[in-house]
Amino acid sequence: MSNKPENLTLITDDGLRLDGRRADEIRPMKIEIGVLSRADGSCYLEWGRNKILVGVFGPREAHPRRSQRADAAVIRYRYNMASFSVEDRARPGPSRRSIEISKVSREAFEPVIMAELFPKTAIDIFVEVLQADAGTRTAAINASSIALADAGIPMKGLITSCAFGKVDGQIVLDLNKEEDNYGEADFPVAMTQDGEITLIQMDGHLTPEEIKKGLELVKKGCKEILEIQQAVLRKKFETPVEEISEET
Ligand code: UDP
Repeated sequence: MSNKPENLTLITDDGLRLDGRRADEIRPMKIEIGVLSRADGSCYLEWGRNKILVGVFGPREAHPRRSQRADAAVIRYRYNMASFSVEDRARPGPSRRSIEISKVSREAFEPVIMAELFPKTAIDIFVEVLQADAGTRTAAINASSIALADAGIPMKGLITSCAFGKVDGQIVLDLNKEEDNYGEADFPVAMTQDGEITLIQMDGHLTPEEIKKGLELVKKGCKEILEIQQAVLRKKFETPVEEISEET
């Protein structure tokens, strides 16, 4: 969030944003499932100009042994930005930002992953941001949800994530890079299928009324994303009965 150049208008008088969206619209999303043959589950997701690859491994014996939990699997989430993913090269290796994003994203999944079924094991979620254009943590969570399902990890439901923000004084859904840079606030959220919030963060300043309005927008955005996620999973796992009987 930096100072906006005086002549830059992020929302026109007609209510259109720089990429042509209205305040309540998310960027176009494209999901591919099972793209990595060595991972137990994987997903490639494009959301606007974001490009994210996720590989899920496990449940597998947790190493080192001292990291094991006797009563459940440990969930590990590593968010990494490729150095070529941003305009100014990102320094390779963990940063304060990537460690924070990894932590909050892992916590966003903990309420739904049935870790108690797999004591002493680890479930690893590796996120690689290949191209970043604002909203990479939310994009990565949406992709991870699919990769976890692809790996067959038992979950109580999918996690869906989207941000809202304040741009030119207006509350809008799913900020793009210009809006993230020159907007007044960014508020990423993740939620379960039942609308229970599992991640909430805020950068900037918002009034309680603005947050209330933004959360309504985010609920709408997450519902649309959930439909996209479910359609992708159905396509992969709902093999028509005729096809099964033909194969056997
Ligand atoms: N960004 C960047 N360099 C960095 C970190 C972030 O250029 O080292 C850009 C990137 O496009 C990212 C955006 O800033 O998507 C917003 O970053 P933020 O920390 O708000 O996380 P995000 O919105 O991606 O979850």
